[in-house]
Amino acid sequence: MKYLFTTMLFFFVASIGLYSQSEGCITQQDEQLFERLEYNLKQANKTVEKGYVTRFVPVHFHIVTDNDGSNSLDEDKLIKDLCKLNNRYEEADILFYIDEISYINSTNLNSRPRLSSSVSLMRQNRNSNAMNVYLVTNILQNDGSPSGAAGYYSGGSNNDFIVMLKTTLGNDSFVLEHEIGHFFSLPHTHVGWEGDISQGSTNGGYQPEIHGDTVRIQIITGSTQSGPVEVELVNGSNCNVAGDRICDTPPDYGFGQSCGCCTMVYDVWDRNGDKIEPMIDNVMSYSNGCDPFLFSQEQIITMQSDFDSPFRSYLRTGEVTEYNPIPNSVNIISPVSDQIYEDFNGVLIEWEPIAEAEGYRVQISGRQQLSFITTDSELFLTELLPNSLYFVDVFAVNKFGTGCNTVTRRLFQTGTGSTSVNETESVNSVTLYPNPARSGEQITLSLEASKNISGQLSLYNLNGEKIWDQWVSIFENRSAIELSSAELTPGIYLLEFNSSEGLIVEKLIIE
Ligand SMILES: [Zn+2]
Repeated sequence: MKYLFTTMLFFFVASIGLYSQSEGCITQQDEQLFERLEYNLKQANKTVEKGYVTRFVPVHFHIVTDNDGSNSLDEDKLIKDLCKLNNRYEEADILFYIDEISYINSTNLNSRPRLSSSVSLMRQNRNSNAMNVYLVTNILQNDGSPSGAAGYYSGGSNNDFIVMLKTTLGNDSFVLEHEIGHFFSLPHTHVGWEGDISQGSTNGGYQPEIHGDTVRIQIITGSTQSGPVEVELVNGSNCNVAGDRICDTPPDYGFGQSCGCCTMVYDVWDRNGDKIEPMIDNVMSYSNGCDPFLFSQEQIITMQSDFDSPFRSYLRTGEVTEYNPIPNSVNIISPVSDQIYEDFNGVLIEWEPIAEAEGYRVQISGRQQLSFITTDSELFLTELLPNSLYFVDVFAVNKFGTGCNTVTRRLFQTGTGSTSVNETESVNSVTLYPNPARSGEQITLSLEASKNISGQLSLYNLNGEKIWDQWVSIFENRSAIELSSAELTPGIYLLEFNSSEGLIVEKLIIE
């Protein structure tokens, strides 16, 4: 039994370890990446001399869906997570803003972004004036098994984009931050040690029984993500040619990957006999559970140098001069806390405008899930159900996303009352008579319109259930539509006329 428990525990750890082999980073640290790294490292002094400069990075998010549009991603989540990304890159003074969000309907790309046809599709859709991030549902191998969580596709200027699982966006594993590190020319701190640890030999992260307490090998060759890499020493004597070639990140022989943790659990010495103290919480490691993960100072300077390099000139074409994130949360004026609206089909949500906002997202959750985007500071809801509890969230948005803590939530309740609604400009008057009516009585809907309009006429009860609907045309000047109430039991009903011109709602009472 004890053995079984241990086994299960192992699988559990293996499956949550973000950068376990099957769910890892698939970035190929190829020659081109190292050439750019070498160039950027040489620019370090120049970059430091520039002092305090904010670098603005336009990002094009490509939301990939299946052919039929399913398995998409909620834009709200993306916009919220942009704020996390900016917080995590704050020390580097690199700021990401939304250049564009667009959609690609391709089941193939959404599940197998490593196929050459998928790569071609991403090349075709690449925005040449932004950092491109493709958000997919799965990264599968040909046999259908998972093959990674994210990757930066390097290798030629035609690629140069990031692919990542939607599920890893904004989570505490810093997946996007890690891939952006690759985008800006950073290798893994444990470059060369990425292989599958279960395969033994020198293939994979550090294993005491394979590599010994003192690691004597001089070159690590097992990784499929990089070529042979010289094993780095603690004293720094080979730091600019070995490991990640960045000297202020100490040697890392894939320790985080081996333990699936964020604490150095091994006592290991390099071949000089110097004890190794890795920066296990480095963003570019495969450690797990370190939130927050950090960059070293030289890694930051390298990324800044990459942004400033000729290779990245296309990122510098925007005209952003000022970072104006949403500073505070939206103050909702109505509803007040726990407000009860007597009417359910005419609920006004209102908030104080925020100067920095380009628009607002309003999310209604509860019995219905509704989402709206508006540039106004109010929203009139006509589609809520009676006797229901709802939450409303309002958050302000601009190209920098929204602030991390800028969502205000209010709870409210709808009653059974209803109000007449006429959002149709070309309809000047609406009358329903007799109202109240007796069951079985003929009812007339009379409308005065300034033009001909066709639309759906529907009758609902107070549970939101549709009793009937029909397509009707109303004509310029006065139209009268005769309705039968023969099958209506006493109660309150809502008669809705929905056309491209807008919505009309009338309350009908049957006695
Ligand atoms: Zn990686």
